[in-house]
Amino acid sequence: MINAMNKVTYGVFVLTAKKNDYDNGCIINTVLQVTDNPEQIIVAVNKINYTHDIIMDTGSFNISVLSEKSEFDMFKHFGFQSGRDVNKFDGFEDFKRSSNGISYITKGTNAYISGKVKQTIDMGTHTLFVADVTEKEVLNEDSSASYEYYHKNIKPQANVEANDKKKWVCTVCGYEYEGEDLPEDFICPWCKHPASDFEKL
Ligand code: FE
Repeated sequence: MINAMNKVTYGVFVLTAKKNDYDNGCIINTVLQVTDNPEQIIVAVNKINYTHDIIMDTGSFNISVLSEKSEFDMFKHFGFQSGRDVNKFDGFEDFKRSSNGISYITKGTNAYISGKVKQTIDMGTHTLFVADVTEKEVLNEDSSASYEYYHKNIKPQANVEANDKKKWVCTVCGYEYEGEDLPEDFICPWCKHPASDFEKL
């Protein structure tokens, strides 16, 4: 668990895009402003996300910055299911649209930034999108949530109680597995991460 990589700071964001009137979004933790004039950002997105494919096709996206007031439900809604299976905007009302026509999230967020892709870099499992900022707005003065804040304060905390049962907890989402052994091929039912992302309580 002691990994120097975990000491690097990240935020948490909802990345949204739209293709043929189909809205989608996913949770990411890597957004970085690189230059000020002009304003350019880079965003790293895992290729398994449907939002990734939409951005590859359309070249446009919005970043909604999650604040410390965001709730675990938002992470489950956008992070732990795929837009290939579920329309995440079906019945979802906590959003508005920026002038590029793409949604941004208005609940548990403090700002949004619109990006227009000017370059993509293939990083294997991920694509790095280099983009111009085309629009941006501060929504409120709540503090932005860091990835560490999400792990410590937003995701469900491991429930260590007097109980003979052995437990494993998913380090990504907090899901708890009870049993003698965690199967090697176990997949977290919430966030779909493998058994290697679990640790024993
Ligand atoms: Fe999980």
